Amino acid sequence: MRQYDTAELQRLDQKHHIHPFTDHQEMWQKGARIITGAENIYIYDSDGKKYLDGMSGLWCVNIGYGRQELAEVAKLQMEQLPYYNSFFQTAQLPAVELAEILAEVTPPHMNQVFFGCSGSDGNDTVLRLVRHYWASLGHKNKNIVISRINGYHGSTMAGASLGGMKPMHAQGGLPIPDIAHIDQPYFYREGGDMSLEEFGRQRARCLEDKILELGADRVAAFIGEPVQGAGGVIVPPDNYWPEINRICEKYDVLLCADEVICGFGRTGEWFGSEKFGIEPDVMTMAKGLSSGYQPIGAVMVSDKVAEGLVNKGGEFVHGYTYSGHPVACAVALKNIQIMRDERIIENARDNTMDYLQSKVSQLGEHPLVGDARGTGFLAALELVKNKETRENFGNNGAAGAVCRDFAIENGLVMRAVGDSMILCPPLIISREQIDELHGKILQSLDQSLEYLTEISA
Ligand SMILES: *Cc1c(COP(=O)(O)O)cnc(C)c1O
Repeated sequence: MRQYDTAELQRLDQKHHIHPFTDHQEMWQKGARIITGAENIYIYDSDGKKYLDGMSGLWCVNIGYGRQELAEVAKLQMEQLPYYNSFFQTAQLPAVELAEILAEVTPPHMNQVFFGCSGSDGNDTVLRLVRHYWASLGHKNKNIVISRINGYHGSTMAGASLGGMKPMHAQGGLPIPDIAHIDQPYFYREGGDMSLEEFGRQRARCLEDKILELGADRVAAFIGEPVQGAGGVIVPPDNYWPEINRICEKYDVLLCADEVICGFGRTGEWFGSEKFGIEPDVMTMAKGLSSGYQPIGAVMVSDKVAEGLVNKGGEFVHGYTYSGHPVACAVALKNIQIMRDERIIENARDNTMDYLQSKVSQLGEHPLVGDARGTGFLAALELVKNKETRENFGNNGAAGAVCRDFAIENGLVMRAVGDSMILCPPLIISREQIDELHGKILQSLDQSLEYLTEISA
């Protein structure tokens, strides 16, 4: 790998570049890590150091890095038609073809799709879409959307409002009106003395209680991630989603599955909705849709919603210049074709998924790990000071940051959400690579334990 003048790049970065979700003062003390290349499940920095990317970039490179076919279709599409819009009764080939294949891979009752550029703007679309849907059926006041504390739905005004992240609400006057939040199904921290099943039922009942409190005639939709990602890989009890389905149906509330992380194989099925028995009216997709090779998002709707929206709704006065961008659509289409042709999701589910989860469970025996949870190709190791009492280290995720930094030293990218270490590797990770991942995590946990014991002594 080529070496760069890292210090010079860091200097320029510091001078001109504002980063997302970053405390700049903290970053500048060490300088930004500068990533210059990637192949398979590995990334390389400007000093030539190699890392196993345990996060698939940012939960998105499901197919792995370096797929030449994706670069080729992007080039061909740029030569043929680099841009044209889909406004005002126009379409172009890649958007039409991508819409068709999405209708094929999503659940049978979902056949129409609206394109955007990201998960965040997808959820903005969802908010406007569900409100417009009900208004077009004559229910103007049915406009409240219920979501969950510690859910993540992106960083735009609507996305961050739908999300339940307190620090995000604290900046910029969020949430916007007519959004309500209920408790999350986080068993390890909030389950108390309940059984998993009791807890699942209780947390689903929070939705029913909230609908009754607000009045069903006011509630347009419920939105949730099948598995909360950015909130710390919160895997709900098995009975949670079927209960949510039942409640949404009972009160005529639309069910929106935010599949931005769970979609395209992350849980071992094409969509988290299939794995958890969710029957969505609306699905938000992004990330794995193009495996991160191009910025693209999509909102898939059920036939019922499409009927209200497209046949009765008149003009939906909403859209983005890059809705259905031809290059992004061509790349997403090829990404899905490769996943289908090579049976990437099915192979991962049948050959490596259980192996990965068994390694995660093993790591749960480490003295530092209070909870080891996961599903499919998602996992979290929650670090605690005391396994018995579940006491955490406090200090705002400082222990997680310690472990993350050791991991980086050891050539592994793992993200810390508070004190939960997150894993979200590409679906193409092999058994040997899972062993390598496991070894690096174990080493990082051992080092963290030693360090944390030392500083607290
Ligand atoms: C990442 C994410 C989003 C936001 O997607 P962006 O492409 O970053 O705007 C929305 N929902 C979920 C569940 C996500 O994980």
